Amino acid sequence: MGSTAEKFIADSEEKAFDQDHRRIINFNMGRYHASAAKGIDRLTNLETAKRKAHVIKWRVMENLDKFLPEFEANFQRRGGKVIWANDVEEAQQEILSIIHRAGARRVVKSKTMATEEIHLNEFLEQNNIESLETDLGEYIVQLLGQKPYHIVTPAMHLSKEDIARLFNQKFGTPIDATPEQLTQKARELLRDKYLQADVGITGANFLIADTGSIAMSENEGNARLCTTFPKIHIAIVGIEKLIPSITDLDLFWPLLSTHGTGQNLTVYNTILSGPRQMDEADGPEEMYVILLDNGRTNLLAKKDQRQGLYCIRCGACLNACPIYQNVGGYTYNTTYSGPIGSVITPHMKGMEEFKHLSYASTLCGRCTEVCPVKIDLHKMLLINRRDAVKEDLSTPKEKWGWAAWKKAMLSRKLTDFFGGKMKNFILKMFFKKAWGKFREMPVVAEKSFAQRWAEEQNRKED
Ligand code: SF4
Repeated sequence: MGSTAEKFIADSEEKAFDQDHRRIINFNMGRYHASAAKGIDRLTNLETAKRKAHVIKWRVMENLDKFLPEFEANFQRRGGKVIWANDVEEAQQEILSIIHRAGARRVVKSKTMATEEIHLNEFLEQNNIESLETDLGEYIVQLLGQKPYHIVTPAMHLSKEDIARLFNQKFGTPIDATPEQLTQKARELLRDKYLQADVGITGANFLIADTGSIAMSENEGNARLCTTFPKIHIAIVGIEKLIPSITDLDLFWPLLSTHGTGQNLTVYNTILSGPRQMDEADGPEEMYVILLDNGRTNLLAKKDQRQGLYCIRCGACLNACPIYQNVGGYTYNTTYSGPIGSVITPHMKGMEEFKHLSYASTLCGRCTEVCPVKIDLHKMLLINRRDAVKEDLSTPKEKWGWAAWKKAMLSRKLTDFFGGKMKNFILKMFFKKAWGKFREMPVVAEKSFAQRWAEEQNRKED
């Protein structure tokens, strides 16, 4: 396959006409929209809450150099260890060396996009370490050898029949097993794994600067088990997850849960401030927080797009996006998909390779409307497009096309140089492929408006 952009277009076309995909996504998205609408409706002063969240995140990003050391100092005060990782390789090696030092062989993981970003499961597998996902959705996609389809709902692309079929093949459960039976089976399979694991790996929804804690939200309780049974807990967290104070959670928790799933509050909300203390009954003996940069500071350096770092990964913009709903999560071929993925990926992984994502938008603005931290997402997409042009990343064909268009549009004589037939021929010759085979090409009239107007005036004068 050619470039990432060509693959995106080919995969989009295939997915958009995949009827099964459409049916499952419409069903699952429909359920999300119904419950999110109810949940969000229960928030009083939604606009004020969103504005406040935006301002807090703005303050954090403008002062990241102060908040990060504050978090580090406070977390270390209670015996936790902070590791800074600039990129994928550093994060992987740091995790591996902790595992090797402990002579560990088995890892249990809760859902975290940061570990997807650093391809942790594959890396650990290559190093003969068993790494098991314990979130049900993640466990399902891991069984299938797939990546998460969605940042909040990893198995959103699967129907309950698909999952029953998978469990039937893997574990012999009835082919028509109910979701409750399947969950029960997964629970049985996973329970022992917590006890056997040497290391628990999680992410965090928030890093709290003033207490030096991490906050995790989840619905299954698996992250709590991952952080209490194993002797070592490693949390891998993007540096943008900071909030200044523990009191900010009263704003961010409900915003995250209502926009993520429609719940008033996620079922389990845990705040961890270090390893087990002398007077505590449970918890790990060692706790590490790996602060992951991996391109985030590139985004921080972009004044116009910095607000991409305010994201709390609720997934609302993905669910609102007509492009995401049609082409699906895998087509993006990135860890973070949908509008927020299209905004941040070019800065995290390279503008040249991922600039096409900024065009994967109708610019309808629905993403911006639903974002709980008021990121101006569709404007960011336009700014990315501008930057791609400024960085001279357009193809020669595109440059030539726009130069010709500009020249013609600025001169009436040139615009009317060819008649409608010739213009239609040129359109078909050069733009049919880009326009796509499923859309009718627009037809240019034989004479332009200016020509017809002049003719009309002449006729009146005669
Ligand atoms: S950009 Fe906004 S809507 Fe999208 S995932 Fe992040 S916080 Fe949610």
